[in-house]
Amino acid sequence: MRAAHISLDIPTQVFDDTYTYVIPDSMDNIEVGCAVLVPFNHRPCVGFVLEIGDVLDLIDAPSTDGASFQPTLEMIDADDDVARRIAGYKMVSRVLSHAFFNEHGAACALFLSHRYIAPLSSCVRLFTPPGAVPRVAKQAGHWQVIDPPVGEIDDRWVCLGSAAATFTPRKNAVKQIAILRALTQGPLRITDLHAEYGAVTSTIHALEKRNVVCIEHRRRMRGDLSNTASPDSESHIQQSTFVPTPKPVLTQGQSHALDAIQSARSHKDGHVVLVDGVTGSGKTEVYLQAIEDVLHEGQGAIVLVPEISLTPQTVARFRGRFGDTVAVMHSRMSPGERFDQWDVIRSGQARVVVGARSALFTPVNNLGLIVIDEEHETTYKQDSAPRYVARDVAAWIAQRVGATLVLGSATPSIETLYNVNHVDGWTQTVLPERANGRPLPPIDVVDMAREFGGGSRSMFSKTLQSALEKALRDGHKAVLLLNQRGFASFLLCRDCGYVPECPECAISLTYHERGNQLVCHHCGYRIAAPARCPHCGSPYLKRFGAGTQRVEAELRSLISSFELDVPVIRMDADTTSKKGAHQKLLESFAAADAAVLLGTQMIAKGLDFDDVVLVGVINADTQLRLPDFRSGERTFDLIDQVAGRAGRANLPGRVIVQTYSADEVPIRAAASYNRKAFLDDELAKRKVLHYPPFVRLADILVWGKGESIVADEANSLYHEIIACVSASDSSDADEWMVYPSSPCTITRLRGAYRYHIAVKAPRDIDIASVIGSVFRNRKAKQEISVALDIDPVSML
Ligand code: ADP
Ligand code: ZN
Ligand code: ZN
Repeated sequence: MRAAHISLDIPTQVFDDTYTYVIPDSMDNIEVGCAVLVPFNHRPCVGFVLEIGDVLDLIDAPSTDGASFQPTLEMIDADDDVARRIAGYKMVSRVLSHAFFNEHGAACALFLSHRYIAPLSSCVRLFTPPGAVPRVAKQAGHWQVIDPPVGEIDDRWVCLGSAAATFTPRKNAVKQIAILRALTQGPLRITDLHAEYGAVTSTIHALEKRNVVCIEHRRRMRGDLSNTASPDSESHIQQSTFVPTPKPVLTQGQSHALDAIQSARSHKDGHVVLVDGVTGSGKTEVYLQAIEDVLHEGQGAIVLVPEISLTPQTVARFRGRFGDTVAVMHSRMSPGERFDQWDVIRSGQARVVVGARSALFTPVNNLGLIVIDEEHETTYKQDSAPRYVARDVAAWIAQRVGATLVLGSATPSIETLYNVNHVDGWTQTVLPERANGRPLPPIDVVDMAREFGGGSRSMFSKTLQSALEKALRDGHKAVLLLNQRGFASFLLCRDCGYVPECPECAISLTYHERGNQLVCHHCGYRIAAPARCPHCGSPYLKRFGAGTQRVEAELRSLISSFELDVPVIRMDADTTSKKGAHQKLLESFAAADAAVLLGTQMIAKGLDFDDVVLVGVINADTQLRLPDFRSGERTFDLIDQVAGRAGRANLPGRVIVQTYSADEVPIRAAASYNRKAFLDDELAKRKVLHYPPFVRLADILVWGKGESIVADEANSLYHEIIACVSASDSSDADEWMVYPSSPCTITRLRGAYRYHIAVKAPRDIDIASVIGSVFRNRKAKQEISVALDIDPVSML
């Protein structure tokens, strides 16, 4: 007799363990990864099967205290023993779906739940396509299984039948004649026939009866990435038109990188290869050729790219090489589109998945390679439970299934560089030059404080102005980056220093040119910008920092002062909110001769335009001044990444970085492409201040409406954590640092007060096993939320 360990699909920490259910003998379609119906708390409940095994292996060991009579094995026959021991267990009632994941997926969900101290159900849900899971709800007083809202769509197609050749329609049967003529070109969808010829149902029905036509059900694939495809029939695949990507002769660096990946793969045990290549060094080509080998050996691959660079161009490069075997997965796709892509992966028809971090959990058959491009990016951290770091999870998966992990970046994260030097099985391969042999563009740093002191009030320095004029006059393109993370454009009273803040979030309100408004970028609160200081009445309110709209206005007037007429394309959260808008803006930039692309961080990566000769960073300080331990690293990365957009082809490029902090190491080091200088300085600081990679961090965030209850809860959690750490038998207990709870840098967000507790643990410790119990045993309180962030990317 068999039993199953089942994770209930209830998103709470309270029912977080797996539960054991007995499998009825007649249930032969149950597998690991299936959704099932089980009784729980006097009601039916949906759960997922994580393990199946012999009932005696899976049920808890029977009680051995003296109170209950324990017959020795010789006294009873085995079946009675089984019957007695499983007496308290309930049965699985029904299998509700095919398997969403396999044993590896089940193990990964358990790993995630443990490592990130997250509800098991939310970890299991990562493996299911959104909207595809049945649920249970009470309808008319009865518990009912509700079918998932998302599933496959069948289209009905009409084809010519066996009697078509001998059938002659009557002369006045106009519709019949038209339909049959159309069908001689090939099968058509009923919906299309409806659209073309009006109501056709009865006509088709009549023809079907005489075997003149027949109806076929075919799977329809949603989204514009794939056309009609049926998982089980090759003949239904309409080949999409792919422009094949030609295969260049590899540079020496690329060949070495490919060799390194080959050799890592030969171990089949989760080796990690860092492809450390400057922007334009041809890392993508390395991935493509490595994947080609993987496919040759009958394995599959997952490629993660940052969400924002998941453009049709990126996808086209993979499809150009691998055609229909490429599936795409990201959060801007509709649930239906994701379901279809997911299903194509599960069926084995697609063997390469290109996607955002969630693609890591798609059911690729026989996974051989995981690639994470731009591995230093923060988009690889999930910001809701489970707050996983895709890079670390990918390393775990690769090890578990015997695959290889490739991390690519021009500015690898400090953690990855550290692992390469300290962890077995991690190697680094360097691509020091661009694939086309072009030099990296020189970077000039302009000290804006000095410009200001010299009397200039413009946000564009003299250097940037003249470089821009030259570029545009020559008919070339420029990219200007406006760093907007954090506290963008705000009003500041020159008399009293007052800055209007959001009353709900306690961060500066952002000034918006359009409508002359102040807007909170966290909660959407908006008011008309005051004419006078609300604090002292002074009329001298200065707009400090600048939003893209204002920079755009000043840029346009600058360009018209050159007496030039070139398009300015603004790309920020406002202009790219509509689906496909991002793409359209890039296309119009590509199509123009001379043009300026002005944008936020989203333009820093992935742009590959031949005729961009100038890159300007308008304000390098906004990132650097964020009160976070990674702000130096992010500033260095950003300058390096955005510089990589200039001079990619035959035209020489140039980069100008404007800053009020010209002497800061991250800026100086980035300007001279000197990563070592940056790392020496940064690692020394991190070591002294106990930051990663020398320790592991956890940040416990507590928020709610009432400040005192939030503060109290944070304080009591702090004491519980302290108690756990000192009680732990870890010999490193004295190396832990638990900081007393304190208000966050962003003290209020959407009306909630925010406190946090920072925890630093020795590098190799399993944080969860020491402090997890504090959270697993915590009773949920309605008015307070607690989030636990293990390995946070920022602590604001
Ligand atoms: P990265 O991913 O490192 O930024 P890409 O893979 O995008 O670099 O390559 C940069 C450019 O160089 C692309 O236009 C690509 O087609 C081209 N390229 C890549 N490898 C080669 C090669 N071996 N020979 C010539 N061109 C190459
Ligand atoms: Zn004032
Ligand atoms: Zn707000």
